[in-house]
Order: sequence, then C-alpha cells, then structure tokens
Amino acid sequence: MNPADLAVIDRLGLTATTTQVGAKIDRLRHVGVARAHCVFDWDRTLTVPASGDDSDPTVWRVLSDLLPEAAREEYRSLFARFRPAERAGTLSEHQAAHWWRAVLQIIVRSRVSLADAEHVMASTVALRPGTGRLFRHLTDRRVPRVILSAGVSDLIEGMCRRNRLQPSGVIATRLATSDGGTITGWDPGSLVHPLNKPARAAGDLAQIQRARPFTILLGDSPTDSAMVQTDEPYGLRICVGSAPPAKAGEPDEAHQRTLPLFDLTLRGPSLTPVTRLLRYLDLEHQRNPQRTRQEVASPRRPPRTRQP
Ligand SMILES: [Mg+2]
Repeated sequence: MNPADLAVIDRLGLTATTTQVGAKIDRLRHVGVARAHCVFDWDRTLTVPASGDDSDPTVWRVLSDLLPEAAREEYRSLFARFRPAERAGTLSEHQAAHWWRAVLQIIVRSRVSLADAEHVMASTVALRPGTGRLFRHLTDRRVPRVILSAGVSDLIEGMCRRNRLQPSGVIATRLATSDGGTITGWDPGSLVHPLNKPARAAGDLAQIQRARPFTILLGDSPTDSAMVQTDEPYGLRICVGSAPPAKAGEPDEAHQRTLPLFDLTLRGPSLTPVTRLLRYLDLEHQRNPQRTRQEVASPRRPPRTRQP
C-alpha cells in the first residue's frame, strides 16, 4: 500500500484491516468518488443510543419496548436464541427468516402503534456523530446513498426526515398500519433480514453500479460485510463501532472475528474520518485528470503503475 495513503488513513482515525485495502483505495482514487455509491447498514451503523448509555440503538429494540411483558419475554427468548449466531456470522438464511417473521408476528399480535414507536425512536436513538456531515458531502457530489437495513423502513425514513438526512433509497421491511396507526402486518415481498440483503438490494443496486461501479459500504456486523456483491477491488468495506459494549453471550472475540471481514475500521465513534478520507481521495483524483479519463473510459482495466 502507498505509504502516504496509509499515513493519511491512520491519521484520520481509521485502521486498515485487510491486505487488499491498498488496491481498493488506489482504485477509488482513480475512478473518483463521484463514480462511487454508498450503501449503509442502519442499526448500530448510523445509530447510537441517544443518552450515551449502553441501550441498543436499533429499530427492533424500539419496537420491543412497546410490547406487553409476556410478548417481550417471547421477543427476548428469540433474541437469546439467534443473536449469538448472528454476531458470530454463523446464522443461516432459514434461521434469519424464521427469527424476523416471528418478531414481526409478535409486534402485529401486540397491536403496537407506529406513532408510539416513532416517539420512542426519537427519544432513545440518535444518529452516529458525523452522519449528517457525511450524507451532506455525498449529496453535494450526487453520490447515491442507499440505506440497506434489516430494520423497518417506516421508522428509518421517519428518523431521516427528522434529522434532514437525504438517503437516495431505503431498502427495508415495510409495515402495514390501520387507519388508527396500529401496526397490522408487513409487506412480505419487502422483508429484509440480515442474510437476504444482497438479494433484496441486487435489482436497485445493479442499475446504480452500472454508472457508478465502486461500492463504499458501511456496516457493523459480519453479514453487513457481504450485504452487497461487488467485483474486487471495486468495494471498500468500512466497519464502524470498534469497541461494542461487552454483553452476556456476546464476547469480544466475536468483534475480533468481524474486523478482518472489512477493509477499514473506525477507531472512534464518529463517521467524520470517512468524509475526510473521501475529500482526500477527491483531491488526489483531481491531481491526475489524464488517468481519470482513462479509468472512466475503461473502468475495469488493471491499475497502471504510477508515473514518477
Ligand atoms: Mg447493524
């Protein structure tokens, strides 16, 4: 890897975690950030607890807070059964679909109000520091910003509106509600769980990838690292949240197994190092316009050696 790039990455608060990261950074610099697109996981990637405590800043924790006690116990037992495998990256697609449908059925049966869920979301979940800045940077450059989440699109879109975040698309499970706002079901065709993310995103992203071949992916879990299919070295995977709170059943070794699945890891809680890295690569791209034209004309060619 170019030592200058490595120094910049390190100074910005990012750690390189794969040997391919140099080739990917080099490719992104040559293609240009304007010819990239970003795909974000939502829960724990773009969200943190509003109070700064160790509560779980996810759509599903918000919805489960509104369940009556017996239903909440059912929800907890599903979480205890499947979450360790999800975190370890060993959850099967069948298990994931079973878990997600069972949770949705509990929420529908409990007649949870979507307005109440939005209220709990607004008061207990915040955007990760630096999220607004990163989205504005990408919006200004017309770089597509897709949120691909195993959460619920209704709650994600509501929080984006409240925080003036402008994703170009949200791919997540869509709820059905009664006239009174009670959650009555979900669109089965829209169901997104951690392991069908690549399939659910394939159609929408294929169109984007034709014009903008480079994928910048942000996530926090083993399954997020593979949520978009990319041709290497056309995908840069960035892991957020370097130090999750240790919880029962979630040993730190699980996090250590996650890191090598991503190319870069943020050492702090903020996404601002990502914005700064993109700015740096934009400037580098502008310094070498001749090479840029060649890359745009033939984006799949192997990288040429740098001229002295
Ligand atoms: Mg997540």
